[in-house]
Amino acid sequence: MPEKVVIIGSGPAGWTAAIYAARANLQPVVFEGAITEENRIKGTLPLGQLALTTEVENFPGFPSASLHNFLETALPEDRRPFWVLDKKSQPGHGITGPELMDLMRQQALNFGTRIITDDITHVDFSKKPFRITSLEGNTVEAMSVIISTGARANYLGLPSEDNFKNRGVSACAVCDGALPRFRNKPIVVVGGGDSALEEASYLSKFASVVYLVHRRDKLRASKIMQDRALGNPKIKPCWNSAVEEVLGNDKDGVTGVKLKNLITGKFEELAASGMFLGIGHTPNTDFLKGQLELDDKGYIVWQKPARTNTSVDGVFASGDVADSYYRQAVTAAGSGCMSALDAERWLAEHGEV
Ligand code: NAP
Repeated sequence: MPEKVVIIGSGPAGWTAAIYAARANLQPVVFEGAITEENRIKGTLPLGQLALTTEVENFPGFPSASLHNFLETALPEDRRPFWVLDKKSQPGHGITGPELMDLMRQQALNFGTRIITDDITHVDFSKKPFRITSLEGNTVEAMSVIISTGARANYLGLPSEDNFKNRGVSACAVCDGALPRFRNKPIVVVGGGDSALEEASYLSKFASVVYLVHRRDKLRASKIMQDRALGNPKIKPCWNSAVEEVLGNDKDGVTGVKLKNLITGKFEELAASGMFLGIGHTPNTDFLKGQLELDDKGYIVWQKPARTNTSVDGVFASGDVADSYYRQAVTAAGSGCMSALDAERWLAEHGEV
């Protein structure tokens, strides 16, 4: 028997889709991704990008830092969580990305979602039921599919960068920043958006100095992130600059970077024990090529305004894999809900439920 709905991906969109689909009695199966070294390096492990962040300050319902006090005043005593009542186990923070993702996963499980820890490597959407094949070689048939595979961090594409991945080059400060090699040493962060500034602020807790290398003299990041980063005495911007080469050797890994000033054309070398990338994202759609409509950057194209339909009837998409614009946890969760409702209605219209 084909599955009614298979959900591919395990970020906020995937889990929200699963919660809604499970509560609609569609018995969803979620392929949450595989735990492999390749996925670790690419940043595509289960639970998605939020699992690679620290505090989540903008997901509604989790007021950071003051959550404990907030709950004490906002909720009657019989409605407060145990950790608020138990003074010894006060976490003293809002919520972290990994906590939020684990809670979403658990919520999906509680409603009967089946979870498979495997990657989808191939899909056949040419006929129904759809056929979905995993890295481990299992094939599942499905009447409808929701794709929520998200996006992953970009790299500069320099050969020297590739050479030092895992030896000082990283796109995940939260995963790698606390490693001994970075402690009290200079670190380079590349980019001028929220991701780069978030990485720079986080790394400043460990590094002696963080060089923020940006190709322009204006940051793209939100005002609050700019103020926080530029007000941090450990973060030193290198404006109008690009990394030409990552310097290092086999024994020590990264030892520095060669920078080019894009205005003067002059080169400069900075000593650094690592380089972290914060230069945007690529959607995880390699396994979909030729199966449905993607835009020129590889994002899935929604076909109808305010609907999650893809170009294949019965296949829906939610979260960052179809959204290069908002890319927020809460918008991903919202579109995950939409994709489950769209799938449920589509199945009902086609007599499948
Ligand atoms: P982004 O906003 O697209 O910024 C990418 C940055 O990298 C830009 O400054 C860009 O430079 C630079 N860049 C791109 N390609 C480059 C290259 N090849 N070489 C050098 N620099 C390059 O991406 P993002 O920072 O990942 O943010 C994506 C979205 O997530 C945004 O909507 C952001 O607000 C959101 N976000 C939010 C938070 C938060 O609220 N806590 C945290 C992270 C991300 P230019 O400016 O010159 O184009």
